[in-house]
Amino acid sequence: MSSFNDFGLSSAMRANLEQLGFAKPTEIQAKALAPGLAGKDVIAMAKTGSGKTAAFGVSLIERLNPRLFAVQSLILCPTRELADQVAKALRELARARENVKILTLCGGVSIGPQIGSLSHGAHIVVGTPGRVQDHLRKGTLSLARLKTVVLDEADRMLDMGFQDAMEDILSQTPGSRQTMMFSATWPASIRELSKQYQKDPVDVRAETAGGNPDIEELFYEVSPRQKADAIVALLSERQPGSCIVFCATKQQCDEMAEDLVNRGFSALALHGDLEQRDRDSVLVRFGNQSCSILVATDVAARGLDIKSLPFVINAEPARDPEVHTHRIGRTGRAGEQGHAVTFCVPSQGHKISRIESERGRSAVWGDTELLLAVPVKPVVPAMRTLCIAGGRKDKIRPGDVLGALTGEAGIPGKAVGKIDLFDHQCFVAVEKSQADTALSRLESGKVKGRKIRVRYA
Ligand code: AMP
Repeated sequence: MSSFNDFGLSSAMRANLEQLGFAKPTEIQAKALAPGLAGKDVIAMAKTGSGKTAAFGVSLIERLNPRLFAVQSLILCPTRELADQVAKALRELARARENVKILTLCGGVSIGPQIGSLSHGAHIVVGTPGRVQDHLRKGTLSLARLKTVVLDEADRMLDMGFQDAMEDILSQTPGSRQTMMFSATWPASIRELSKQYQKDPVDVRAETAGGNPDIEELFYEVSPRQKADAIVALLSERQPGSCIVFCATKQQCDEMAEDLVNRGFSALALHGDLEQRDRDSVLVRFGNQSCSILVATDVAARGLDIKSLPFVINAEPARDPEVHTHRIGRTGRAGEQGHAVTFCVPSQGHKISRIESERGRSAVWGDTELLLAVPVKPVVPAMRTLCIAGGRKDKIRPGDVLGALTGEAGIPGKAVGKIDLFDHQCFVAVEKSQADTALSRLESGKVKGRKIRVRYA
């Protein structure tokens, strides 16, 4: 099927799609629309950019009864940005129908106004799991008349620890509901979720995977004075396990890293002025997950051997689109979803325009005020790094260090992370909760039969 005329859509919807410039269905739409409109459960493997929002949005809106003043569709999204994007797309699609009310319910903003809006009635709710749960608990949201629930970016919601929240929400919906699940990846946890909450789902996959890495990109315009707060808010909200923040100059890197550390984050600066030894230590700590944020210049980040990062932030837009692509290409590798956020001050708008024209699509802008309202929550790394004053030249091997930790010192093997060996020193990552014990036991014990100096890196 390759035409929007093939699905029995209302003429108003077809006219609206035409007006939106949707000449023909994308692959995921062509495959998901028919089962969606028929009220069947759908599990779809689809990425951002595939047209997935309209793939579920068109059928939601077509199946809606605007005269019934109750929440008939619920779309759960992992982040507020995605929820805002989805709500915006749905509002455009809903122009085909009169009086369809769409509400977003996301955390990070005060709940009062949301309660007010809910009391006026809504047909479609788009929200993040935590806040939707809050409303259910308060009794300000009822899902008793729900027809369809959509789990958008279900894999990311699982990654972000929303499984219990999703299950709690689903348990408060009618058993007769239609459940649509969209996910960029296909791990066992997703298949399990589908098995538990879907009935005979139609399995839909877009074959055209596309050669481009899967990167969700967002831009924020900030004033120079807002920038540091905005970056802190973003990190607080996203809680990335690892993240590079790109700055334009060495001085900016130092200032940014210092500011982040002062606010309780674990951050290190990487730039050309560092001694080799310090550079090694910075890269080791970032690579072994005992520092979550690396603040770097382009030059310093060149040749960084870090496979894939979940998150890249541009504190400054890159000098040109090519450098931009290179920076954000550090995330979203190996089939994983990447995330990149770029901040610019008003005078840098032209740099973003150049990125847009280079790619032939427009930038998605986040709401700076909403972002700045996110409370500060430092990202806490999982590990701490011990530095052992002995290395290759002292005939120490990684096995010796692991042996000393798990043997005499009694640290469980799974609490020991990456071991990086250099000529005269060795770094070992240990789970935070075990780090003090590991340090004191190594100090009083021996590595390879010898007393050895140990300290925190
Ligand atoms: P999504 O994957 O839902 O984030 O959609 C990516 C972009 O594709 C959005 O800007 C949509 O407006 C656009 N889009 C969705 N469906 C179509 C279509 N059938 N034809 C052209 N553009 C589309």
